Amino acid sequence: MKIAVIGAGVIGVTTALELASHGHDVVVFEKGSGIAQQASFATAGFMGPAMMQSWTAPGIPFKTLRKVLFGSDTHAFHGLSNLPFSWFWQWQKASNHPSYKLKLEALQRLAFYSQEVMTGITEQYGLQYENSQGCLLICRQEKDLKNYQLQLDLMAENGIIFKKIDPIETRKLEPALSEDQTFHSAVMFPNDAIANCRQFSLLAKQQAHLLGTEFRTSQEVLPLMPEAPQVIRTVSGTSEKYDHVVVCAGIHSNALVKNLGITVPSLAVHGYTLSSSVRQLIDTPVFGVMDARHHVSIARTGQRIRVSGIAEIGRNKKAPEECVSLLYKVLNDWFPGAAKTHESVQVWRGTRDVLTDGVPILGHSGIKGVWLNTGHGNHGWANSCGSARAIADMVSGRECEVDLKGLGIERF
Ligand SMILES: Cc1cc2nc3c(=O)[nH]c(=O)nc-3n(C[C@H](O)[C@H](O)[C@H](O)COP(=O)(O)OP(=O)(O)OC[C@H]3O[C@@H](n4cnc5c(N)ncnc54)[C@H](O)[C@@H]3O)c2cc1C
Repeated sequence: MKIAVIGAGVIGVTTALELASHGHDVVVFEKGSGIAQQASFATAGFMGPAMMQSWTAPGIPFKTLRKVLFGSDTHAFHGLSNLPFSWFWQWQKASNHPSYKLKLEALQRLAFYSQEVMTGITEQYGLQYENSQGCLLICRQEKDLKNYQLQLDLMAENGIIFKKIDPIETRKLEPALSEDQTFHSAVMFPNDAIANCRQFSLLAKQQAHLLGTEFRTSQEVLPLMPEAPQVIRTVSGTSEKYDHVVVCAGIHSNALVKNLGITVPSLAVHGYTLSSSVRQLIDTPVFGVMDARHHVSIARTGQRIRVSGIAEIGRNKKAPEECVSLLYKVLNDWFPGAAKTHESVQVWRGTRDVLTDGVPILGHSGIKGVWLNTGHGNHGWANSCGSARAIADMVSGRECEVDLKGLGIERF
């Protein structure tokens, strides 16, 4: 079949690869000049079921509201007063305990499956990209660990392996941790991993191309039309009909499908990543490290240190340096000698497409020939390969290998 994929972030590229390996004729439309240049550009790199940290969790919306009302915007959250009320309300409704549990389980299932599919793809095509095994959650104080307890309980129920460790054991595993920094404990997740999302996307693109996929960059697709939803019209004036269209346009997906009567209620939540060269290998983290208090991660991918975090909603009047000061602080707290921050540091601001219930939309849109693989929020890299395989199976009329309960558009 002739299939159009809209968007060449990690989601669109992996979807194209899967569809092409199912034997379809695939064309990818990307409005930018290259692959993985938007949300997929400089992710923190965390992958695996343990790091599925949804903001749609009991207590989080009201904690956020308190920050807005009483002006206690912490470093980690900016611009919260821009939070649209309707979005906030839906978010609050989805953040009750039973719903949180179901959604987290759905995310974890997808993440497990994605790991499996990614391992298969890596072996099948002999891909080599920067990756490392194991993630560590560091808790500065006991209350940081307590804040994660519900999540850890659900992980234990769902068979995710982790181990709580004290500072002495943590330092044995992570010898470069600053001696000056005291902390309460850490949680080790041996099966989660760090890998370079953009590098993987470029390699996946190459493979998809070898399987016949055509990548049309600098081609912006116009909103799909109800009278001909499978027709792709571009700003440059082309128009072509496909058997199926898969929308993988990240934060722009809603604009593409809204004329079809479909709503993708995503909110743009910006985040920042600092990328800097390694100063001394011996001073860098062995694992992907997450600071549980500030929700800021530090990881080494190849010769680069990446520090990533912050949730920013709407326009921010602060200068980028001020926004990222928390990232520098966390890096200096834990691994002061790891990066050449006195030399050039790349500061990247990326946009997560976050849905009110914190899980993506995966499946048929309800309109003939139109499919959705979008709304991946914080976890698009981790869930890319599994989501792509699932969509390709559905489009090809095959049975999905993963249970996608709770991930359909009909929930909105
Ligand atoms: C700071 C930060 C850190 C993160 N860390 C992690 C992490 O550690 N682990 C993890 O799993 N996830 C992480 N994420 C989330 C992850 O980056 C996203 O979930 C993922 O990249 C989404 O991929 P995507 O392909 O859906 O979107 P994108 O990469 O944004 O791709 C969408 C593409 O669609 C194109 N497009 C849009 N509209 C059109 C149109 N009309 N016509 C043609 N093309 C169009 C865009 O140009 C874009 O290239 C992080 C995000 C941020 C911001």
